[in-house]
Amino acid sequence: MGKTGVVAIQGDFDKHLASLRLAGAVDPVEVRTPEDLAGVDRVILPGGESTAVGLLMERFGLGEALQKAAAEGMPIWGTCMGMILMARDVRPRPQYSLNLLDIVVERNAFGAQVHSFEDAVAVDGLAEPILGVFIRAPIVAEVGAGVQELARYDGKVVAVRQGNRIGTSFHPELTDDVRMHAWFLSLT
Ligand code: GLN
Repeated sequence: MGKTGVVAIQGDFDKHLASLRLAGAVDPVEVRTPEDLAGVDRVILPGGESTAVGLLMERFGLGEALQKAAAEGMPIWGTCMGMILMARDVRPRPQYSLNLLDIVVERNAFGAQVHSFEDAVAVDGLAEPILGVFIRAPIVAEVGAGVQELARYDGKVVAVRQGNRIGTSFHPELTDDVRMHAWFLSLT
């Protein structure tokens, strides 16, 4: 399993750390710099505000370090903001992203009236559905050839996998169900 990190620039990184501990990760750590990243074997990009975090990741070199680590095979999981940051392209306006998943995401895609909601989502590989917590959530508008859909909600793609990189529109870290965290810890 090795050492697990959570990018801790802004957003709900503390919730991921708690879920990781429940799922059996030993002493997961906060990652803010390329040096922090060098000390971990897998990393989660949490929910938050993708424009702000993208700018800071670019400025402090963490973006480049994440791209390098991904190229060397590090498992990476992005939830909501994290998936936006991992995308190849972002709509409705272009913004900084890491191009770690061959997807195009559309931010805040569930419409102004439905900023936040929860509902059951069937995720490929999980025996029972998970409670999907969607908060101003993005959808995956385009999926590249090497990308596997893991879940749809209301016909829209809300979870994807490309090798050992995962993106989810929703926030398993905001529930006490840690099955996705346990699964992420098993990826090599
Ligand atoms: N709407 C946010 C963004 O575009 C993401 C929201 C979230 O991470 N819950 O960055």
